[in-house]
Amino acid sequence: MGAITRRHALKITAVGTGAAVASGLMGRERALAAYGTAVPSLQGKTAIVIGSGFSGAVTAYRLAQAGMQVTVIERGRRWTVTPQGGTFCTISNPDWRAAWFSDHPHLGLAPTLTTIEKGAGLVAKHFGDGINVLSGTAVGGGSLVIGMFMPQPRKSEWDTVYPPQLPYDLFDGVYWPRARQNLGVTPLPDDILAAPQYKGARAWLQYVAEFGGTPVKIPFAVDWDRVRAELAGTAPACHIIGEGPHGSNSGAKNSVDKNYLRWAEETGRCTVLSLHVVTAIREVSGQDRFEVVAKNIHERSGETLATRTLACDYLFMAAGSLYTTSLLVTARHDGTLTRLNDQAGKGWGNNGDFLMSRLSLRKDVGYAQGGPGNVKFFDDANPYCRAAMAWEAAPVPTWVPKTTAHLITTMTPERGEIRYDAASGAGKVYWPYGLMETKGEKAGRDLATRFWWATEGSKGYLFNGLPDYDEGTGPGFGFAGTWHPLGGMVHGKATDFDGRVLGYPNLYCVDGSVLPGSACLANPSLTITANAERITDAFVAAHV
Ligand SMILES: Cc1cc2nc3c(=O)[nH]c(=O)nc-3n(C[C@H](O)[C@H](O)[C@H](O)COP(=O)(O)OP(=O)(O)OC[C@H]3O[C@@H](n4cnc5c(N)ncnc54)[C@H](O)[C@@H]3O)c2cc1C
Repeated sequence: MGAITRRHALKITAVGTGAAVASGLMGRERALAAYGTAVPSLQGKTAIVIGSGFSGAVTAYRLAQAGMQVTVIERGRRWTVTPQGGTFCTISNPDWRAAWFSDHPHLGLAPTLTTIEKGAGLVAKHFGDGINVLSGTAVGGGSLVIGMFMPQPRKSEWDTVYPPQLPYDLFDGVYWPRARQNLGVTPLPDDILAAPQYKGARAWLQYVAEFGGTPVKIPFAVDWDRVRAELAGTAPACHIIGEGPHGSNSGAKNSVDKNYLRWAEETGRCTVLSLHVVTAIREVSGQDRFEVVAKNIHERSGETLATRTLACDYLFMAAGSLYTTSLLVTARHDGTLTRLNDQAGKGWGNNGDFLMSRLSLRKDVGYAQGGPGNVKFFDDANPYCRAAMAWEAAPVPTWVPKTTAHLITTMTPERGEIRYDAASGAGKVYWPYGLMETKGEKAGRDLATRFWWATEGSKGYLFNGLPDYDEGTGPGFGFAGTWHPLGGMVHGKATDFDGRVLGYPNLYCVDGSVLPGSACLANPSLTITANAERITDAFVAAHV
């Protein structure tokens, strides 16, 4: 292990241990701390991690740190940010780098009207039955595309969705702080908020006050010094002009390829295979070991260059809620993982996402809006279910009258399912709810309308700030799509509370698939990262 990694390891152990003392959780932490970075019974054992997003990167690092030989299989490509910028395309000017083998980008004002060449670009779109799902596809997974919103859930919602085996205090005392520390999560600093490029953020604060909402600062996994460099003109402009979801050309995102995954590779025990698409998983008969089949693809044509079969002692599924569950239910259908229980695929949710915009605003919000965001507020008295609303910076074309984009998250109770789909030979999301059949959609419309009335309509500005949540507009507004898929292999249902797939002692799910369809009025990546830390702690401790 290199010196940098050892320093990180010590820092991380200190953070985790200190918090654990506070929470009275010393047993497991003390066992881990006693072994530092290497666990004798795991030395030389092999692990495959499928997917390199938040959960895959955490898992790769923790297993490699414990002495295992880790292979990460990732279908996306590796992106290296250069000082000149231009690594990624932009929302304003998309090309093949925007989307995963698609004729259209998936983000922006009217993505279906734009045509691009196909390639191994960043954002994948799954066309489900009743809902579409967007996800990041790269070495670093979703961490390259996300807005880097990293709020922590509140206990009041957590306790209604998460069972006692996943106690709020454990996350609050140990795992959310550890995830924040390792991802570098902090709120938007005041000096950046004061910059001319951030008038949209300042206008949002005024609007929230006019609504009577209590602004809650959102923390972001962003290196604000890089944003300051953007403002100073010494780094390529990206976040200060509302860009970033197609990748951070200034390098300001603390994506996991720069922290967890890099630390994993620095151990010398972790190999990342990029542009490798896993197509099949099978148990090696009677051995509790697994084989994984992956095809290495060409990044532009998508053609198969080679097919590889890799074997491992332990298999960790980190392909994201949708693709992890899809691979598993497909394996069950194909007869290669027959012992998955009947809960596999169930309990899938959209985190209550309700995407919308406000059009033709009264206040000046700017066009290339500096972001990624700043505050949200909670709508606890919503008559349908609790909700929260945040502003999301965007590069709005100058011919569009003053507009801002928003994500409302809701505590919608409905759940869908991921089932094997014979037509595609893979898992498919089933969301059996029509327009206005979910509490979350009703809550989203209710909040959006009240917000308009309080901030514009009641002041006589009847045609300003009108909410647009029409499912046919934007990148899929309202409940038409989600960026935050969760569930499918839910803890306590298809997996145990340590992520082990029921029926398979050496097969684990570590990603969004184990969360029960909701991250409780919060964007989920902080909790996914924290939970992967928790699962890998439990795995390592079980082998100490
Ligand atoms: C546009 C957008 C904005 C978002 N903004 C935010 C935000 O601000 N805050 C937030 O918390 N969340 C945000 N999210 C959601 C966030 O990306 C996910 O919650 C998070 O990345 C999930 O982490 P994960 O570890 O479960 O999986 P992922 O990060 O999705 O990683 C899964 C990886 O597995 C790979 N993979 C999938 N199938 C295969 C296969 N067959 N073979 C090999 N590899 C495979 C994928 O390419 C991917 O790299 C956003 C999502 C989108 C699409």
